[in-house]
Amino acid sequence: ALQVVLAKRPVGDVTDDCFRAETVTLPALTDGQILIRQRFLSLDPYMRPRMTELRSYTPPFELDKPLTGGSVGEVVESRNERFAKGDIVMGLLNWATHTVHDGKGLRKIDPSIAPLSAHLGILGMPSFTAWYGMKHICKPKAGETAFVSAATGAVGQVAGQLAKLAGARVVGCAGDEDKCVWAVREAGYDACFNHRTERDYGAVLDKLCPQGIDSDFENVGGRIFHAVFARLNNFGRVAFCGAISEYQDKEPMAGPPKMFTIVQRRLTIQGFIVSDHVALMGDFVNEVGGLLKAGKLKSRETVVDGLAKAPQAFMGLLKGQNFGKLVVKIDG
Ligand code: NDP
Repeated sequence: ALQVVLAKRPVGDVTDDCFRAETVTLPALTDGQILIRQRFLSLDPYMRPRMTELRSYTPPFELDKPLTGGSVGEVVESRNERFAKGDIVMGLLNWATHTVHDGKGLRKIDPSIAPLSAHLGILGMPSFTAWYGMKHICKPKAGETAFVSAATGAVGQVAGQLAKLAGARVVGCAGDEDKCVWAVREAGYDACFNHRTERDYGAVLDKLCPQGIDSDFENVGGRIFHAVFARLNNFGRVAFCGAISEYQDKEPMAGPPKMFTIVQRRLTIQGFIVSDHVALMGDFVNEVGGLLKAGKLKSRETVVDGLAKAPQAFMGLLKGQNFGKLVVKIDG
């Protein structure tokens, strides 16, 4: 099997030499184990903090061990009574073409419901994240303005569409013109600005959100968040989902000025981690699955071909080179 291990912990930007591809011979299965041929690997921003040694909500990746990620694969051999050859399973697996696994934490999926990669995106963790943050924290409604950063990413594209379906005016930002056009034409955003060409975020937000901002689904952090924070209305809500613009900083970024704003405007700023809310997965599947069936949700994904390209694709994710959910198709 081919696998990709963490060769070096990055300082600042992730570089090629942080990864090493290795060919390994997998051991024969023992009782309780299955052999999985992996089909799709999800690449996600949270993997960047896991590459460093700092304590976070998930433990760091280990040096010289395969990185792991949400994956979909096919059972090709089984000595575990819960799984049969041919089953399609999903769970946290190695960045590898094949993994020997004890089956714990794996979930069987029905391949007839949707393309396999959808279980890592529009029907999976990123979409659940968007749903949770919108439904339980942002709670947008008609007459309000909702803002979403990284508006066309795996999480953002769903967050924006849910806010629109809830009746709010929805404004976003994304890192290139095509993404902004898609956000407005396809995902129904009322406006989307390009954060790479717009220099004065305050001015553009004043123009696009003349009534201020009632809820912010925060994916990016940094300067974009500072500008949004200053424009939150009374009783504004922030679902703090991520801060991707800060993940590669060598020095921590300061917070927004004038924190007393939180008191003056009675703001709710809530960080959340989607895995704390798995009990709500059923509600998510009903609601978002229903919207998908009814053709009310659009989604984009970027598929990269071959495990060997995963490191490059991951570095691209941290620079905005993906459009929608980034997955690697694995042909092992
Ligand atoms: P995306 O599909 O949105 O991909 C990342 C995007 O972030 C890029 O395409 C790029 O979009 C944008 N980006 C990258 N670098 C920068 C930068 N320096 N400045 C501004 N924008 C940047 O990823 P996800 O949808 O999977 O994740 C979005 C956010 O949600 C991340 O912060 C992630 O950590 C967080 N997250 C949190 C979860 C939780 O449980 N709290 C669960 C899942 C994700 P563009 O071209 O538009 O700039």
